[in-house]
Amino acid sequence: MTKFSDLNLHPKVLKAIDDAGYETPTPIQAEAIPPALEGRDVLGIAQTGTGKTASFTLPMITLLARGRARARMPRSLVLCPTRELAAQVAENFETYAKYVKLTKALLIGGVSFREQDAAIDRGVDVLIATPGRLLDHFERGKLILSDVKVMVVDEADRMLDMGFIPDIERIFGMTNPLTRQTLFFSATMAPEIERITNTFLSAPARIEVARQATTSETITQGVVMFKASRRDREASEKRKLLRTIIDNEGEKCTNAIIFCNRKMDVDTVSKSLKKYGYDASPIHGDLEQSHRTKTLDAFRDGSLRFLVASDVAARGLDVPNVSHVFNFDVPSHAEDYVHRIGRTGRAGRAGTAMMICVPKDEKNLADIERLVQNEIPRLENPLKSAKSEEAPKSAKSEETKDSGGEKKYTGRSRRSSKSDEPQSKPIETVVAAPTPPADTQADTQAVTQADRPQSKNDRQASSDDHQASSNDRQASSNDRQASTSDRRSNSASSDNRGKSGDNRSSSRSSNRSRGGRDNGKTVIGLGDHLPSFIALSFEQRRAG
Ligand code: AMP
Repeated sequence: MTKFSDLNLHPKVLKAIDDAGYETPTPIQAEAIPPALEGRDVLGIAQTGTGKTASFTLPMITLLARGRARARMPRSLVLCPTRELAAQVAENFETYAKYVKLTKALLIGGVSFREQDAAIDRGVDVLIATPGRLLDHFERGKLILSDVKVMVVDEADRMLDMGFIPDIERIFGMTNPLTRQTLFFSATMAPEIERITNTFLSAPARIEVARQATTSETITQGVVMFKASRRDREASEKRKLLRTIIDNEGEKCTNAIIFCNRKMDVDTVSKSLKKYGYDASPIHGDLEQSHRTKTLDAFRDGSLRFLVASDVAARGLDVPNVSHVFNFDVPSHAEDYVHRIGRTGRAGRAGTAMMICVPKDEKNLADIERLVQNEIPRLENPLKSAKSEEAPKSAKSEETKDSGGEKKYTGRSRRSSKSDEPQSKPIETVVAAPTPPADTQADTQAVTQADRPQSKNDRQASSDDHQASSNDRQASSNDRQASTSDRRSNSASSDNRGKSGDNRSSSRSSNRSRGGRDNGKTVIGLGDHLPSFIALSFEQRRAG
């Protein structure tokens, strides 16, 4: 078996690896480090979790250990799709270059240009950047890339998803192809990625390591097939199901990442969990960088238990001890499932990954199972079993009927629903809840989209379907916008939240008419008939 000491790495790098406690190189490291040290281009087809970051940082540190950087002319460049990944790569350099004097700068959005400019002016050996921010600096005339000796493109497939490929091509064009060595990593080889590698890599050593899906035996997986009692209750019932699943895991669940497909749902699920007393915080591309960093740090150091995340924000995150991953939604790209569950069960540890699948996501579930070449075990719906145990009590409540079956709306106010009741009460409780106190109402409204009126629900549901199908593209492009926010002054991030709030008052009023309709009676609205008092003007009435 190959040892690190067989790889011709700098002795100071070997010492740092030893300090980090790593004994043997992972397959991607064993295969990629030797050609990288020979100065060859490398094409690594590997996913996060395989040790790929060290497979380029270790040879880079060895190659850069000699020589000095000149002002504004970095000697190496690592391009990452997200700020988190860039920060993680920077941490890797900290770890492995601790005995080698190297200067580095991190160019990511959400951080002031001034500090970054100052670092570039001093000269850096390693520049780690997201494409948008790098181009910002370049356009300001602060950066010269013609002296880049080693250029790394990390997670190219995610760059493609995020629409960064034109930026990457531009950046390649700013470097000198004759003196540049390229280390290129991607989990998949889409035709567009293949084209880029054919254009910019020269006779690369091609290294492909097993998909993470095939090496995840340490992760116990399961999926709960879930059909909401009514389509417009799907979101709130899913949240209740999530809480029940978490509760059932008990102390085994020390911490967890909860993935949602849409950023809007990341916020909603996080808010809802918090409301029920769970220690949860959201992370997605629309949040301020400082906020994202704080949240991640809290999750890493164990002071935050539940991280509710979008794919893009959580991509490549390396948190060593994540006991559980909960997929609130089935990801619409099968490979995202592999990335998501790869956040747990890292480095041979045990992990648990559980997912909720609603009927419209069954096709995506089938795609995932095809990709991982395994059936994900079906788990019993814990809400169903809880309800059947409580059957006698439940007879009076709409909430206690079989959540899988169709049921008729009783016309009772949705506010009495238990589906979003606080954690402290048992989930089987069927007594109608009081209206929440005024100060919690806003929160309740924010997390109970299902309260919307029938007509709006239908519209909302179909727009949700549309949104879900284009979700990844949207999430990606939003994250891209966020990561290049300084360049493009993007401020669209709060639009969705604003819109969801706008529907609230009308939702309450038309709940009433829905009740009437569902009772089987004809609802008589104003129609063409206008009561005469309405036609009177204010002045007239006063006069009268
Ligand atoms: P990456 O694929 O770069 O995100 O790395 C995944 C995880 O593997 C990180 O927690 C690394 O610290 C860890 N790791 C990297 N190299 C090794 C190694 N040779 N042995 C054990 N763990 C490693």
